[in-house]
Amino acid sequence: MLNGAELVARGDEQWDSARAAFNLAIDQRPAMVARPGNADEVAAVVGYARENGLRIAVQAEGHGAGPLAGVGEDTLLLKTARMTGAEIDAENRRSRVGAAAKWQDVSALASPQGLAGLSGSSAEVGVVGYMLGGGHGWLSRKHGMACNSVVGAEVVTADGQLLRADRENEPDLFWALRGGGGSFGVVTALEFELYPVPELYAGMLTWPWERTADVLHAWREWVSGLPNEMSTWARVLQVPPLPDIPEPVRGRQLVVVEAAYLGAEESGGELLRPLRDLAPELDTFAAVPPAALGHLHMDPEDPVPFAMSGQLLDALPPAAIDTIVEAVGPDSGSPLLSLELRQLGGALTEAPPDAGALASVDQAFLTLGVGMVMDPGMASAINAHLDLVSNALEPWDSGVKYANFVDVPIDTRLCYPPETFDRLQEVKARYDRHDLFRANHPIPCSAAAR
Ligand SMILES: Cc1cc2nc3c(=O)[nH]c(=O)nc-3n(C[C@H](O)[C@H](O)[C@H](O)COP(=O)(O)OP(=O)(O)OC[C@H]3O[C@@H](n4cnc5c(N)ncnc54)[C@H](O)[C@@H]3O)c2cc1C
Repeated sequence: MLNGAELVARGDEQWDSARAAFNLAIDQRPAMVARPGNADEVAAVVGYARENGLRIAVQAEGHGAGPLAGVGEDTLLLKTARMTGAEIDAENRRSRVGAAAKWQDVSALASPQGLAGLSGSSAEVGVVGYMLGGGHGWLSRKHGMACNSVVGAEVVTADGQLLRADRENEPDLFWALRGGGGSFGVVTALEFELYPVPELYAGMLTWPWERTADVLHAWREWVSGLPNEMSTWARVLQVPPLPDIPEPVRGRQLVVVEAAYLGAEESGGELLRPLRDLAPELDTFAAVPPAALGHLHMDPEDPVPFAMSGQLLDALPPAAIDTIVEAVGPDSGSPLLSLELRQLGGALTEAPPDAGALASVDQAFLTLGVGMVMDPGMASAINAHLDLVSNALEPWDSGVKYANFVDVPIDTRLCYPPETFDRLQEVKARYDRHDLFRANHPIPCSAAAR
């Protein structure tokens, strides 16, 4: 124990469970694991690491642990797992969460009030890590990236101080935390806006994957006229035969269109008509509460071994669809569980006044390829196929990276416009000039500002 924070060292009974990440393909071997329960304990851990010449990698459950695969003896892994808790103020449409809160903790409170945070595809993902990296989800075409819904953060910085960052206090830190990642300190609490969702019509349509080409071409044409109230993702899915996967899709190869519509069943159904005309074999669309959005995409709820990779595309012409069908459709030999296409646009392209570091996303589509690495032998085939997809889509690739969808170390410069990256480096140098915090997608200190 260290001032109340639990310390787990190599050889301790809990060592393997303490160092594990949600992504079971990642083998983290830090110098030790610390599990503080509150901000004071976080400050004690930060002081301990500094005094012992260790860097700090902060992690909730490790959904984004891939780029940290090399965490080793020079690094203390600070797991926020004990810092759970979420509360909402329905009247003022605000939520406040602890460092380890998951989206399901927020939606359990907000959904019955007809409110929603800007969560992503999974109810299990950590609110803080998701928001620090940007946060793209079902309501993004209407309300933008989730990071720009943040109104305040409490942060323990490298000198062990607990700071409040918001529009009035530490405004540069507040700016950097909204999309600049976890390089600036340990976020111990986060406050953000909730949005009214009086009506929601959501679900998925599925077809056997022999229909991949005609469904994806039809989806591509369909999305061009959609209002911002409609968000839609299409995917080619090879579903493993696992027991916790819903029966109608378990073990199947499918092409799937998912969508969430902020509106009534009647108008949503009208918008969906061109896709329903393609005679899907399964149609799960229904009026649902906001909490249902955390399960629509059927993400895994328990830790799994996976590799993933995404791209931001400037355009998706018919030739890009043909390329995708060839790469992951029938006869492709693809080992990928899923390749998805998310339509962007709408509010994502408009930087809100006083936005954070990830102010807008100007590209038209976001892709995500995922493979299950059930044994080490599969890793090379999956990574090779993720590379094949990304090379094939190169003609439409913007070259910009979306950090939350990159699961290997990259040059973080690729995630931001040059002037944003420069400012992030300056903020890093101001708050962590000895580079104590090791984020999954790190911002290095600028040499000039150090
Ligand atoms: C199944 C699944 C579904 C996903 N769906 C989406 C999606 O729809 N949209 C989307 O945008 N992303 C999505 N992601 C990506 C996800 O948002 C990122 O992996 C994010 O980093 C996860 O945050 P975490 O806290 O759960 O993960 P962690 O691995 O625990 O944290 C990731 C990083 O966040 C930082 N961090 C976390 N907590 C703190 C803290 N308290 N203080 C400072 N830094 C901290 C650290 O730098 C850490 O390396 C998904 C990932 C998975 C595995």
